[in-house]
Amino acid sequence: MGIEANLPEGVLLTTVDTILNWGRENSLFPIPYATACCGIEFMSTVSSAYDIGRFGAEAVRFSPRQADMMIVAGTVNYKQAVILKRIYDQMAEPKWVISMGVCACSGGFYDNYAVVQGIDEIIPVDVYIGGCPPRPEAVLDAVMKLQGKIETESAKTSHLDTVPVDTVKR
Ligand code: SF4
Repeated sequence: MGIEANLPEGVLLTTVDTILNWGRENSLFPIPYATACCGIEFMSTVSSAYDIGRFGAEAVRFSPRQADMMIVAGTVNYKQAVILKRIYDQMAEPKWVISMGVCACSGGFYDNYAVVQGIDEIIPVDVYIGGCPPRPEAVLDAVMKLQGKIETESAKTSHLDTVPVDTVKR
């Protein structure tokens, strides 16, 4: 038995982190960075059949300043890399990234000079989704994994460890 037993009825004990993280994880604003076929699968994920709104992430934004969860869906080549980094930098803090599909995660079968071999060469990634393309259920699973990660974060520290774009290997 702890201090809770001696509190007046209706008093709730929690921490600032718990309250902030609860709000953040249940009101994610996704911005899709869709460059290829995985983008079509992302459209399925936000459709009524799969209803990403059950996880508080249905308000898709196409302005980085209104978004906090970037979903990179598709192949990213080096000409795109600078654009991806700039859009990521324009997102509000705190922000998170889901890498959707093998192309975004590792270049996939596009193992050539033009394609970035994983977007984590450019921006930090919080959750990776394998598959070609991943099914919408896998995207929902990634959102839930991200929610679990957000639960453990502290408002005092930043989770960011951005790789400068000029370190991108060519
Ligand atoms: S992982 Fe497959 S489905 Fe997704 S962008 Fe690459 S080739 Fe297309």
